[in-house]
Amino acid sequence: MTAAVLCFSVDDGHPLDMRMANLLMKHGVQASFFVPSRNSEGQPVLSPSALRDLSGKFEIGSHTLEHRYLNRLDMHEALRQITEGKRALQDTLGKPVQGFCYPGGKYRAIHCGMVQAAGFRYARTTQNLRLDVECSPLELPTTLQFYPHPRTVLIRNFIAQGHWHHRLQTLELLLEEPHWLDRLRRLFAWTVRHGGIFHLWCHSLDLERLGLWQALDRFLEEAVEWIPCERRLNNLQLVTRYCNGIPDANAGFQIIR
Ligand SMILES: [Zn+2]
Repeated sequence: MTAAVLCFSVDDGHPLDMRMANLLMKHGVQASFFVPSRNSEGQPVLSPSALRDLSGKFEIGSHTLEHRYLNRLDMHEALRQITEGKRALQDTLGKPVQGFCYPGGKYRAIHCGMVQAAGFRYARTTQNLRLDVECSPLELPTTLQFYPHPRTVLIRNFIAQGHWHHRLQTLELLLEEPHWLDRLRRLFAWTVRHGGIFHLWCHSLDLERLGLWQALDRFLEEAVEWIPCERRLNNLQLVTRYCNGIPDANAGFQIIR
């Protein structure tokens, strides 16, 4: 069993991501920011200069061209969203973009192929309750969203997202705590004790709307006490270290009680 790793993702490229970046830097936490060029849902996105600034410190990945749910698009438009999103972001940053994140976690198997063909090295999903990466770089799972989801949502997601053998134990641990922040802390403490990948993701806008900045600040302050710098990774570092060139799913982390 590998010692605990902290991985962090921020989705949607909202201008508040600059505040998120400052918070992450304060605690020395690496992260990947997944950014569309425009947001078809009407939210603002980071300016090109802010993105370039951010990319000096964190990994920037693509979140399609316009934050479109791939499963709602025809093949031609899905491919355009994937390839043009990568091209536009690379033009802005002046360097290769290797990571992708499926908007809304909505995709089908054919979209994984498109992402690979477009030249991405990995793609992150919104599948939660995972402490392993199972060496599936085009369907990289997560552990939890930093969001006060009620237990009913956790259970609904558990049922809908499959991979139950990897996720049941995590769900059981979480359901023992009534408050979402206690659930987060309990699972983190468990990961520190037993090993695994604790992959947290969030939207900066959610933290602003729900007044959660201080809660994240406190959580990170506690978390970095247990996870040294070399085990605080962005998504690309995670994939490079644990997934690359290992097609055997059984070579990934397994949860041991
Ligand atoms: Zn999104």
